[in-house]
Amino acid sequence: MSGDSLRSFVHALPKVELHVHLVGSASVDTVLALARRHPAAGVPTDRAELERFYAFRDFDHFLRVYWAVQSMLTDRHDIRLLVTGLAAELARQNVRYAEVTVTPYNHLLDGMAGEELLSGLTEGRALAAVEHGVDLAWCFDIPGEKGVRAGRETLLFALRERPEGLVAFGLGGPEVGVGRAMFEPFFTAAREAGLHSVPHAGETTGPATVWAALHDLGAERIGHGTSATADPALLAYLAEHRIPLEVCPTSNVATRQVPSIAAHPVRRMLDHGVVVTLNTDDPPMFGATLEGEYLAVATELGLGRAELAGLAANAVRASFLGEERKTALLREIEAVAAAR
Ligand SMILES: [Zn+2]
Repeated sequence: MSGDSLRSFVHALPKVELHVHLVGSASVDTVLALARRHPAAGVPTDRAELERFYAFRDFDHFLRVYWAVQSMLTDRHDIRLLVTGLAAELARQNVRYAEVTVTPYNHLLDGMAGEELLSGLTEGRALAAVEHGVDLAWCFDIPGEKGVRAGRETLLFALRERPEGLVAFGLGGPEVGVGRAMFEPFFTAAREAGLHSVPHAGETTGPATVWAALHDLGAERIGHGTSATADPALLAYLAEHRIPLEVCPTSNVATRQVPSIAAHPVRRMLDHGVVVTLNTDDPPMFGATLEGEYLAVATELGLGRAELAGLAANAVRASFLGEERKTALLREIEAVAAAR
């Protein structure tokens, strides 16, 4: 398959994104608009300068960029800008549906009123559907490094406010020194309230963290799960119980969890029958796009178009969409795969 026909094939596949952080999804255009609204934040308001500031260098610089964007989010207008900016980018790549991770605790800690956050999300979500044809759902996640207090506050906020489109409850932030088990009561309560459990695990620590996410947090999907390949019993468990992994190859290279896409264990996961989905994590900050992830595993790991269509179908099945919508998307994927 030539580069052009591969690109058009990947574009034609209707795609679903299951692991993308709202703050980390901010494009240069969005950040430019935010920086011009908040000049005191010190983020460049000149495009060329901003592009230089925004280009990925290393993990420490990524954290600087991430927190600089976070610091400019003060009200519903800022949140709406983020949401509609993400939707425009998803539409450009023929992504039809995304489950977007939002970290309410960080926004509330920064002084944003809960009502502003919720209005921004809800208004942005409506605009995403009407103007871009992209459906969005939310995952509210706990910033793990902020401990059980963040767990409790995130749970209370999620259950009290329950905005339209909230489908999942997550856990992010650093894994080292942040055990999954301490968040068990919050996940239990969230699941009892009908939210799906989708914690990060096995991104920067070993397979034991993935086991803990499964046993302690009732994980229905695993954010990353990269290190699962170090434990054959875990791979077998994930495959048998059809627990999907939200794999983010470019992010894993950027954060140095794997040396290169060519060395990424995604092929091994697939060979063991694990349900793999491809995702972007913090796309512009890592220089990633969802189409780029599909292209990268095709060119670097030799996945053919049937396998790419299989990955797109996995994401549909692993999503929390209704059955009717899943069936329609799966049919579309089949048609694209059959036509080329
Ligand atoms: Zn993530």
